[in-house]
Amino acid sequence: MSDKEPYQPDNIFAKILRGEIPCHRVFEDDTALAFLDILPQADGHTLVIPKLAVRGLFDMPDDAWGPFMQRVQKVASAVKKAMGAEGINLRQFDGAAGGQTVFHLHVHIIPRWEGVALRRHGELMEKPDILKANAEKIRAAL
Ligand code: AMP
Repeated sequence: MSDKEPYQPDNIFAKILRGEIPCHRVFEDDTALAFLDILPQADGHTLVIPKLAVRGLFDMPDDAWGPFMQRVQKVASAVKKAMGAEGINLRQFDGAAGGQTVFHLHVHIIPRWEGVALRRHGELMEKPDILKANAEKIRAAL
């Protein structure tokens, strides 16, 4: 897919935003939605997406970054606390060549622990029971 293409409203995160497909939701307000990645690179790997229909890094309006990143920080704090993480990686894969596979802007919140390697990006599907339990823990820490 070309990075110059317009926003496609049938992308999977747009469907999640519209409630057409389920997710393990941890946070939602007027600005952002956060839910667990179903192929996590670490336990508690969470995605935060803006409610705006935006493809990627260069499409987000200037004045939308502040409120959006405040939500990312808030959710990252809850993920860190809930998962007992020692550190956090924030990641954003932009454009197909940058590793982006879903073309609705999203920030990955990935918990880190000393000596624990990340699993590969988008490779191993997590069990629904584990995702459900981790989502409950993160919601409780918000
Ligand atoms: P990216 O490669 O940065 O575009 O990230 C897309 C991420 O979305 C990957 O880490 C996938 O594991 C994740 N993903 C894809 N479909 C879903 C879904 N239905 N629910 C939750 N996460 C998803």
